[in-house]
Amino acid sequence: GAANVISPAEVVRDCLLLTRHQTEANGIEAQTDFSSARKVLMARTELQQVIVNLILNAVHAMPEGGQLQLVVQNAPQGVEIIVEDNGTGIPPDTLRRIFDPFFTTKHAVGTGLGLSISQTLVSRAGGRITVTSEPGQGSRFVIFLPATDLN
Ligand code: ADP
Ligand code: MG
Repeated sequence: GAANVISPAEVVRDCLLLTRHQTEANGIEAQTDFSSARKVLMARTELQQVIVNLILNAVHAMPEGGQLQLVVQNAPQGVEIIVEDNGTGIPPDTLRRIFDPFFTTKHAVGTGLGLSISQTLVSRAGGRITVTSEPGQGSRFVIFLPATDLN
């Protein structure tokens, strides 16, 4: 898609609405903190694809319900989007492979393409995606995108 000047806070808000059925059906409580109004240069549908995948991955990691935290905040020269869950977490040997194309632990239902494609789309926009996770505690995905305006 064509890159446009877009607001990550708006996109993340839209993605939360798009996934409302899945979060509500799974007893997930969403907390939001959208403190950055900065804009980035990226195709809106591509950022939506990235965020929806992170939210759905978080939902899958909390089969008994849990807390989903979505943050959009200023970072040096850009914007940081954080998607955090308090679900299963990811063991270290799995964590090394989650960005590999077709790597999935969702037998028969997962494509294993979500994070691989997300990494490509984010890096094409000049950003990066990182993860920290603690088995039994949860996972935290952080996307950095360079800002077009630093107001
Ligand atoms: P898929 O969702 O189709 O499996 P992804 O590329 O989105 O593919 O994710 C790859 C794998 O990374 C998942 O199968 C899962 O093992 C792991 N994973 C991703 N996000 C999370 C998360 N929030 N909590 C636990 N595991 C995760
Ligand atoms: Mg996925």
